[in-house]
Amino acid sequence: MLREIDLSKVTDNRLYKGNDEVIVPCDSCAGCSECCRTVGDTIILDPLDIYNLNIATGRSFAEMMEREIEIRLVDGLVLPNIMIDEGSGGCTLLDENGRCTIHKLRPGFCRLFPLGRLYDENGDFRYILQVNECDHPVKGPVRVSDWLGITELDRYEGFIKEWHAVLKGLTEKADQTDDEKIKKHLSWLPIRVFYEPSYDKKADFYGQFHDRLKVLNSGLKSAGII
Ligand code: SF4
Ligand code: SF4
Repeated sequence: MLREIDLSKVTDNRLYKGNDEVIVPCDSCAGCSECCRTVGDTIILDPLDIYNLNIATGRSFAEMMEREIEIRLVDGLVLPNIMIDEGSGGCTLLDENGRCTIHKLRPGFCRLFPLGRLYDENGDFRYILQVNECDHPVKGPVRVSDWLGITELDRYEGFIKEWHAVLKGLTEKADQTDDEKIKKHLSWLPIRVFYEPSYDKKADFYGQFHDRLKVLNSGLKSAGII
């Protein structure tokens, strides 16, 4: 999402690509789950995360709203995030041994941490290392692509840019109108188009995402918004 940050205070002042090496916990976190216990409501989920969570839990978006995810307003748009345990403040998907119960299909933000993404004005992005976010004592160089552990990284990064453009476009459209009804309509569009309708778990995600992009654009056109 759109954030104003002072890079010199929170990063090592470097921008990384997928093939670059970055200094992160090189022992794959070795039993640590500190960031999962302190995430708060920061793990905002994109449509691929919901597709993966649907596979991991076997539950639909509506069913996951009962215990795995919740929705809230983020920069004027209603978006889902991982539900937090009210008692501990940690992620509800962490088990009693401190392990992630959906590790192989964990959300993109979880894969990134302590990295982040920084977008330029064209919607392209580079990875950044948030130097104040992880105190793990054993760190070393790891290729960004290995840290993320995502297959077909090119396709994934293409999707991330497209999704960023969708959210940015909807936010800008909402900012440009004083019509509260249109603002509300725009704020719920991500949920209505990209999250609520079930994905075919056996079919490729990216093709289904592109079909929904078409649905979004034709809906915006027929409503006279674009
Ligand atoms: S990223 Fe850092 S804080 Fe999070 S689990 Fe790994 S070592 Fe722990
Ligand atoms: S989904 Fe898994 S990796 Fe992400 S915060 Fe929860 S327990 Fe940690």
